[in-house]
Amino acid sequence: MAVMEASWPWLKAYPPGIDWHARFAEEPLYRLLEESARRFGDRPCLDFLGKGYSYAEVGALARRAAKGFAALGVTSGTRVGLMLPNTPYYVIAYYAVLMAGGTVVNLNPLYAPPEIRHLVEDSGAEIVLTLDLPAHYALLAPLLGATGLRRIVLCPMAGILPRVKGLAYRLLKRGDIARPPADGTHLAFADLLANDGYFAPLPVEPARDLAVLQYTGGTTGVPKGAMLTHQNLVANARQCLAWFPTVKPGEERVLAVLPFFHVFAMTVAMNWSIACGAEIVLLPRFEIASLLAAIRRKRPTTMPGVPTLFTAIYANPAAKKIDLTSIRSCISGGAPLPVEVKRKFEAMTGCTVVEGYGLSESSPVACCNPLNGVNKTGSVGVPVPATIIEIASLDDPSRLLPQGERGEVAIRGPQVMAGYWRKPEATQSVLKDGRLRTGDVGYLDADGYLFLVDRIKDIIIAGGYKIYPRNVEEAIYQHPKVAECIVLSVEDPYRGQTVKAYVAPAAGQTLDAAELQTFLKDKLSPIEMPKLFEFRSSLPKTLIGKPSKKALIEEEEAKRAAAAPTGG
Ligand code: AMP
Repeated sequence: MAVMEASWPWLKAYPPGIDWHARFAEEPLYRLLEESARRFGDRPCLDFLGKGYSYAEVGALARRAAKGFAALGVTSGTRVGLMLPNTPYYVIAYYAVLMAGGTVVNLNPLYAPPEIRHLVEDSGAEIVLTLDLPAHYALLAPLLGATGLRRIVLCPMAGILPRVKGLAYRLLKRGDIARPPADGTHLAFADLLANDGYFAPLPVEPARDLAVLQYTGGTTGVPKGAMLTHQNLVANARQCLAWFPTVKPGEERVLAVLPFFHVFAMTVAMNWSIACGAEIVLLPRFEIASLLAAIRRKRPTTMPGVPTLFTAIYANPAAKKIDLTSIRSCISGGAPLPVEVKRKFEAMTGCTVVEGYGLSESSPVACCNPLNGVNKTGSVGVPVPATIIEIASLDDPSRLLPQGERGEVAIRGPQVMAGYWRKPEATQSVLKDGRLRTGDVGYLDADGYLFLVDRIKDIIIAGGYKIYPRNVEEAIYQHPKVAECIVLSVEDPYRGQTVKAYVAPAAGQTLDAAELQTFLKDKLSPIEMPKLFEFRSSLPKTLIGKPSKKALIEEEEAKRAAAAPTGG
């Protein structure tokens, strides 16, 4: 170990007050809630559009729901789907499933019907919880009996709103409430709670038992379920907690606008908050006016975000009129954080935004820039405690490269998944001896900071040269009139592939290819210079607000298919 440690450059410059050598005890994930319910019982745990729940209440509701799940047959290893936006239902049901011994399957209610069907079939989810909105319910109803799904639990929207809003909802949205048949396959969330709450959570083996199946990889074909154990997720919540040495247990307020069914928010906004007794301010969807209203009303101390969220706030004129100074720190993840976005958001709020990195397969956080140390521009930071980052050769993944060289980023640590659900071959290709291959290309600098270069599959090869789209995007972002951009390769009859830039100018600005090319001349090599530009008022986003390359690739493919001569 000591020999290997000598080659880990981050140990020299590790953030003060944080112990990289910290180790994380094996615990059931539900213990985070149980401990906080004991320690912070009367402190606020959840706020949903003005309706509050204390830690004692959430702890008690989770026990009752766990007993309800057990009565439905949930036991060790039963998969239960949560197809819910950020609502008290999500948090209560998540911990309740775990207490009953089950495994949570995160489902995004905005997925298309075939995707939901695939995830329910692949995971073998027996029970799924959804809001009582007809559009959401319609995704599940056809799966009853046709897949392993045997029960749907409907969670009434009106039931969690503050009293007056709830009454108004019942009255105005009467036609917008799903009304399932009374055939014993459906129940209401209240039915799960209709018991005395005396329930002993099932013992789990934290390093083996699965807490969550987190589906990922939709952009590269069939989604795979990353198997995250109790230990993976407890460790990652505690690793992130260690990253904030100034956290005041029981006193933080976390704005949770990113959806919990995505791994970043599940760990950083939910499990992290529950572990330190923070109040979670739940927003069921991203909508700038209600986000700003929530900031004004609750004065959050932190807000995990993706770069587009920070941009949406500072670019909104209404944001300038409200006091944002309660926010002290934010982790940004999921996509590269352009320097300008970080600078502008920090200038507006006075907070520190640190960029982190990870993936579903690593629970997700693997690296982060320190809050109390050196932040390096363009880097995603150093490995969080107990985490090792290695760089493997792109040609031979078993060969590790010395510091400074570019290759595939690999992660080892207690947060690395157990494998892909029922996909031993896919597991073998990314996980060997506890080392996770990420598919991201990067390098470590002399202080052990990780710099991402690109994703392996996004590298453009034009005329035999490797082009990293991220480099090109960063150069374009330096133009003051640019709000968003995505660079990708399109087919080129001469070069094989060529570089195309999609650009959304900032509100009220106009920009054309000639102006941008002149600006980029001294920033990009002629090979990197985009040959094609497309200007739009905004660019497509993934459901959590990352710029969506996938959507643009699909558009390009559709265009190509339409242009192709049809065969006789
Ligand atoms: P997911 O599993 O959906 O969370 O996606 C994980 C992927 O997002 C990683 O493999 C990276 O390619 C990308 N990613 C995450 N964080 C960052 C970051 N800070 N900068 C650039 N890419 C990132």
